[in-house]
Amino acid sequence: MKKPKLLLLAAAALLVACQSEDVNENPTATYALGELKMVEVDIPGVDGLKGNGFQASKGKNLKGAATQINQMLEPYGVQLEKMEYYSIDGAGKTVFFSDRGNKQLSSDYVPNDPRNLGGLAVPYLIDGTQLNTASGFNTLQPIVDVMDTWANVTCSSGLDIPFGGVSGADIGFVSNVFFGFGGSNGFFPGVIVHAGTLPKAFFDAIAPGGGNGILGVTFTLTWTDDINGDGKGDVAIKEIYYNDAFNWQDRVATGTGIDFQTVALHEVGHALSQAHFGKLSRTEANGKLHFSPRALMNAGYTGVNRVVEKTDQAGHCSNWSNWPNN
Ligand SMILES: [Zn+2]
Repeated sequence: MKKPKLLLLAAAALLVACQSEDVNENPTATYALGELKMVEVDIPGVDGLKGNGFQASKGKNLKGAATQINQMLEPYGVQLEKMEYYSIDGAGKTVFFSDRGNKQLSSDYVPNDPRNLGGLAVPYLIDGTQLNTASGFNTLQPIVDVMDTWANVTCSSGLDIPFGGVSGADIGFVSNVFFGFGGSNGFFPGVIVHAGTLPKAFFDAIAPGGGNGILGVTFTLTWTDDINGDGKGDVAIKEIYYNDAFNWQDRVATGTGIDFQTVALHEVGHALSQAHFGKLSRTEANGKLHFSPRALMNAGYTGVNRVVEKTDQAGHCSNWSNWPNN
């Protein structure tokens, strides 16, 4: 079996250097090459599951398929809790898979969780093998910019979101184990992984017809053990994927396509524990969608929005302003 290794590119080191000069106001830990080690998963039958997980269910019995795979992951102490997807048509949704009962339909990071890699920080990694979209857009710098936007929200000064680098190997645990779309036989606990831009078929496997409407998705896996006993799932894995079926652009610059940063800001909101927010309405006359209040965390895309709006900030601050003392 091929064991994916985390290879960090020189470009990543340069980016980290730029970041600490230009953007960072807080002293931020950066990571030495290869410091964020992947937890390898080698479960009997994992290869057999590839392509047979959600795909085999053709969107009809996602939960059944997920439950089976969750059972196989038990020895590693992790389970798929939920997927949150963001759509072009306002039909974004949160789907829960955890069978822990209604009490634990939410999750949060545990400060200094010994099972996670970041300590008091929440580092991020970028899959370097799927950075370029079919529309010719490179997602690397926009992702770094988006992480900085969230890191610079002032109420969360105790939270560091350091850049862990760009992986030279295909990373993405959920895409591999649950869907058979490639990725890694392992995961980076407590790290936000931008796991790449994947083909439309991956999003069709997530939800019926999903490839046509889903722009991006964030998966959350939690530790099966609630070590701080707060009744919430403890975050183990956060992975973000983007749908290559769309015309990704820097819309502020080009005036066309879907604004990548807007979508990435939304997904990172989920990775930092925020849920969807806002009420959807449609203007009959022109068929246009509106959310009120308009926010990054609305469940659908309504054009460029690179601003952490009031409600986004309130949600973020309620999660992070007391960190790490919560
Ligand atoms: Zn969403």
